[in-house]
Amino acid sequence: MKIRDLLKKVNTSISFEFFPPKTKEGEEKLFQTIKELESIKPTFVSVTYGAGGSTRDRTRNIVKRIHENTDLTVMAHLTCIGHTKEDLINILQDYKNIGIENILALRGDIPLNQEDFQHPEDGCKYASELVSLIRENFGDWYSIGVAAYPEGHPESPNLERDVINFKRKVEAGADFAITQMFFDNRYFYNFLDLCEKHGINIPIIPGIMPITNFKQIRKFALMCGATIPEKLVSKLEKVEDKPDEVEKIGIEFAVKQCEDLLKNGVKGLHFYTLNKSDATLKIYNQIKHLIKN
Ligand code: FAD
Repeated sequence: MKIRDLLKKVNTSISFEFFPPKTKEGEEKLFQTIKELESIKPTFVSVTYGAGGSTRDRTRNIVKRIHENTDLTVMAHLTCIGHTKEDLINILQDYKNIGIENILALRGDIPLNQEDFQHPEDGCKYASELVSLIRENFGDWYSIGVAAYPEGHPESPNLERDVINFKRKVEAGADFAITQMFFDNRYFYNFLDLCEKHGINIPIIPGIMPITNFKQIRKFALMCGATIPEKLVSKLEKVEDKPDEVEKIGIEFAVKQCEDLLKNGVKGLHFYTLNKSDATLKIYNQIKHLIKN
């Protein structure tokens, strides 16, 4: 089913993001995780794509297996960086042939230390161009999601400029957006106000990253420009090498964050699961009384 239609049906969408494992063993673990999370009946799940096409086949195979072997609605992430339009159309045609109706249209990160990276001549430089390419070639077949950045995208000179660029994706035909992780809801509410000011009215779903491994999440947060509040950092630093305590603090924090978002009427919660079910299930069980579908 198309996510744009599902979002009209539910008050609060719940969704989970996975990445395509490198090994067969990792894949089996992922499908165990999916089985555990399926009991929640999420609105949809999504599978990431390695920018430049590094996981092209693996992403496709996981998406296909979820689509064919579970009752879940699945969305394939697709990044345009490094691909020609012909490549992108081939990938999208293949997804259409197997019955996939949902794409998260992304640009992907510019490769590290390649500020002078040359986009292929017949490629898409920005995600908005990928959204246009999908609409031009596939009409309404796909429900298209895009990325949004409550603290601004790291390459953007300021938040307002980034919102103007976000609007290009909406005008090109995006149906909904999922945000980068953030740990202070004020950034999200401020971002929603700014989007409203710019006339953006598609559903914007907050991305939630439960902190279960502080070192890893701190690195991710630094890379994508997400601020971890000082108070939380100092709490986590004290227990950095005690995984159980880090997880306990991380879950408590995510529960409070989600409670506040739900009380403020968010359209959904998108969990970055890192292919594990434990933390997400614990969080979900503590907030489910606030989800009315
Ligand atoms: P864009 O929307 O194209 O924006 C990129 C930058 O260009 C921004 O700074 C924007 O302000 C600017 N910009 C846009 N249009 C213009 C214009 N016309 N002129 C000038 N500047 C412009 N990465 C992966 O590799 N694989 C994944 O599966 C993946 N999944 C993600 C899922 C979510 C929910 C999110 C939030 C991010 C994900 N990413 C993923 C990361 C994403 O690819 C990077 O953040 C990337 O750097 C930007 O992608 P984008 O689609 O937001 O790009």
